Amino acid sequence: MPEGHTVRRLADRHRELFAGEPVAVTSPQGRFAEGAARISGAVLLDTEAYGKHLLHHYGDLTLHVHLGLYGKFADGDLPVPPPVGQIRLRMANTRHWLDLRGPTACELLDPPEVDALRARLGADPLRADAKPEQAYERIRRSNNALAALLLDQSIVAGTGLIFVLEALFRAGLAPTAPGRTLTPDGWRELWADLVDLMGKAVLSGRIDTVRPEHEPEAMGRPPRVDRHGGEVYVYRRPDQPCLVCGTSVSRGELAGRNSYWCATCQKGAS
Ligand SMILES: [Zn+2]
Repeated sequence: MPEGHTVRRLADRHRELFAGEPVAVTSPQGRFAEGAARISGAVLLDTEAYGKHLLHHYGDLTLHVHLGLYGKFADGDLPVPPPVGQIRLRMANTRHWLDLRGPTACELLDPPEVDALRARLGADPLRADAKPEQAYERIRRSNNALAALLLDQSIVAGTGLIFVLEALFRAGLAPTAPGRTLTPDGWRELWADLVDLMGKAVLSGRIDTVRPEHEPEAMGRPPRVDRHGGEVYVYRRPDQPCLVCGTSVSRGELAGRNSYWCATCQKGAS
């Protein structure tokens, strides 16, 4: 599933391509035909990313998209290509087109529904209005594993498995450590690191989490080959040597997801 930096990049791109002008909106597949008709011809005022949720604002109506596991956007310059496959939403202005396929959510929200969506999302490290202290209030009262808490979108929004496992490695904290063991200083550092890692990913379009001394060139090792791209410490590196201490990276399951960690570098690992 795309993590928050991908959704932020989409919001930025859609603003650049479409904001400030009327857009023609259709649903070639038909499943969003009624919603598309309600916004077609309106001016796209602005776009917004909140966690893994993408919003296109048209005044009193907002298009809400959650890509989920299979959703994908494609865009290009006119002419609009003939529709291929299941295109839920198609947008076009006088220069560009945009297609959306396979989202989990593609719906119109009114202002109270947008407020409700924002209210159920936690602190987004990519947003200037994030309230990390509220996230910490939830974390420090919980016996749940840190990784599960950081993946809970009502606590921290936009983080997926890669950012969470990598930030925990960088902080030296085990994914299974209970939330209540995280100190205020520990949280400040972890939050600052998420802000930094995710901000860099917005710029580069990939998730790189290794420090300069652990990059391939510095270590004289080949770059990582993985469809997710990016240089990482533990994510999807089971049984490979930890880039810091050489211990084999461990793999386990946590809250139904794969989890990866270094039993030597991360405190409280079990
Ligand atoms: Zn290690």
